[in-house]
Amino acid sequence: MTRRQGLSIGFDLGGTQVRAALVDSGKVVSRAAAKTDVAGGPEGVMVQFRQLASEICGGSQLSNVQAVGISAPGPLDTETGVVDHIPTLPGWEQFPLRSRLSEAFGRLAIVENDGIAAAFGEWKHGAGQGLDHLVYVTVSTGIGGGVVVDGSLMHGHRGMGAHVGHFRMAPDGPVCSCGALGCFEAFAAGTALGKRAKKIAAENPRGYLGKLAATAPVETRHAVEGARGGDAECIALIEEEADLLGVGFTGLAHLFSPQRIIMGGGVSQAFDLLTAGIHRRIRRDAMAPFKSVEVVPAALGDNCGLVGVASLALSVANAES
Ligand SMILES: [Zn+2]
Repeated sequence: MTRRQGLSIGFDLGGTQVRAALVDSGKVVSRAAAKTDVAGGPEGVMVQFRQLASEICGGSQLSNVQAVGISAPGPLDTETGVVDHIPTLPGWEQFPLRSRLSEAFGRLAIVENDGIAAAFGEWKHGAGQGLDHLVYVTVSTGIGGGVVVDGSLMHGHRGMGAHVGHFRMAPDGPVCSCGALGCFEAFAAGTALGKRAKKIAAENPRGYLGKLAATAPVETRHAVEGARGGDAECIALIEEEADLLGVGFTGLAHLFSPQRIIMGGGVSQAFDLLTAGIHRRIRRDAMAPFKSVEVVPAALGDNCGLVGVASLALSVANAES
């Protein structure tokens, strides 16, 4: 593995939080976060970027930073670095994020889709090190991801490739956040598991989830906690989730022929409960040469997007210098 020398900053722009990390050779040196200044629009958030950068860069460290990267939810045109719009953040229409970031910090800046950034992080510093072909899938509120093929990070036209959550698994099915029916995300994201848990709670008020619902809204994590405690309804929910993930991963294996599929995001905290069912479905459905594809949990956890986008910015800066 090429060792990438130098310091870089990774930012993650989310609808609720702006996060920043100072990264050195794939390791987080320091990190900070703030509640996204939604009302302040892009100008307010630009101020937050500068504040967070001075928080994470003590003393003269900022002067040693070689590049700055920012990841944000897609679809994002990363070729131009101009934000088209962000559904969760009003006022960002046509904002030239990359050039403004470059001006603000006086160094090279890149803009990257959060799934692709995380895939790069896992590839270079996490569970995909040394591979030439991998698919990274984050399973949380939604499903996103990134793909490495033939030893290169896949971007696609306008940098919008690898929207792995939005291939359709069925001609109908649950409504997806994108508006279509039956996407992988609509079936298997954490939100979908949470909805199924709520339904079980409503159908059986005397069950584990039903009793919980009397005191608090039932969430995805309750299904996981119940399964860990041995509750039969929750175990069935987790088995169903594993099976749906296995169906989606089988499709991704056929599309990209990865050596490994890496699963991140909040739902991957239950990977130990899901792994048997995921692999059972792949072994059953995949064409013969694809049956042995291995699904593993992400290694960088929460930091993979920040590490990924900071490392990617640094590799672009090194390639240009
Ligand atoms: Zn969709």
